[in-house]
Amino acid sequence: MKIVRVTSHVLCYDLDEELGYSQQYFTQRTAHLVEVETDEGLIGWGECFGAGNVALANKAIVERVIQPMILGLDALDREVIWQQVYNLLRDHGQKGMPIQALSGVDIALWDLAGKAVGLPLYKLLGGAFRQRVPVYGYGMMLQRRPDLAQAFEAEAAAIKAKGFTATKMKVGLGVARDIELVEAVRDGIGPEMRLMVDANHAFAIHDALALGRELERLGVYWFEEPVAPEDRAGYRELRAKLAVNIAGGEAEFTRWGFRDLIEGRCVDILQPEVCGLGGITEYRRVLALAQAQLLPVVNHVWGSGVALATNLHLLLALPDLPGGAHPEPPYLEYDTTPNRFKDGILVRPLDIEGQVRDHDGTAAPPPGPGLGVEVDRDFLEAHRAA
Ligand code: CA
Repeated sequence: MKIVRVTSHVLCYDLDEELGYSQQYFTQRTAHLVEVETDEGLIGWGECFGAGNVALANKAIVERVIQPMILGLDALDREVIWQQVYNLLRDHGQKGMPIQALSGVDIALWDLAGKAVGLPLYKLLGGAFRQRVPVYGYGMMLQRRPDLAQAFEAEAAAIKAKGFTATKMKVGLGVARDIELVEAVRDGIGPEMRLMVDANHAFAIHDALALGRELERLGVYWFEEPVAPEDRAGYRELRAKLAVNIAGGEAEFTRWGFRDLIEGRCVDILQPEVCGLGGITEYRRVLALAQAQLLPVVNHVWGSGVALATNLHLLLALPDLPGGAHPEPPYLEYDTTPNRFKDGILVRPLDIEGQVRDHDGTAAPPPGPGLGVEVDRDFLEAHRAA
């Protein structure tokens, strides 16, 4: 089954309201799908992490750099293809955009492998440890409005009312303002619901410690990307000094990047981003490293229904660590803020919110071989950026 074409589809549309996180505000949604076609007519879909103009740069890497390397190769040889492409890209970027681009291609090859043998992705990965996974509803993105704390309180209460059993909010406006925001969200959801806080590496170590101590008081479950991903010593210091779980990993790439993060004991919860770190082939190697240290994994998820479906399969196939009769199940990360790429992009929507409502806060991957998704071509055309 030879690869005959690799196509990037970069999609965008304008949001009604500006949204943000600690690094920037944005007014457009972007998605970047990768389509791999074969001489047997089978088509595989993948997705690359990277928004806005980064997606356009990644499109060029997928179509003009990676495609010529893999045309004519057997689509089932995904391990060989991964090593071959990485070896040729190594001198030009062992992290970042080249690896994000490779990720989307690799995921499409796994989708093809599932379709070729008529099995869902989780079966190819060794089977399902569970049939459904709990979903955490992330929201509370930053906005430029004076009543942000009140808005956060109401949004958090609405996420709880939808049936999510855990939620996540953004911070990064400065320690004092952030404490107000976390207190407001805690008021909105009550003392029991699991709450996570994401700083998108906004802080230097001193402020991260100061905020982290308040997060302990407010019963926060994890503090995500408190400091810059390069600051391994900072991560270790926070882990040693704070009782709150330290989470991170979405800005790390390949087994080599993760090796240092994992062996350095930098995080309590690892958040690999399969659409960025090198695809499913590399995700499995990162998982092996994490398992060797008995490090819990909760995948980072961002993007369209293709990324969501990919992660649902991965989470079904993720073993419990350390194992037992009452394990802590892995969560699916789900963005509750407006994004038509979650469901609009698929002929049969995943409808995560409906699943959460009707199945006690849990979701399952779609049936069918590979990822189980069918991409809506009309939707692609209507949202095409390039
Ligand atoms: Ca994050």
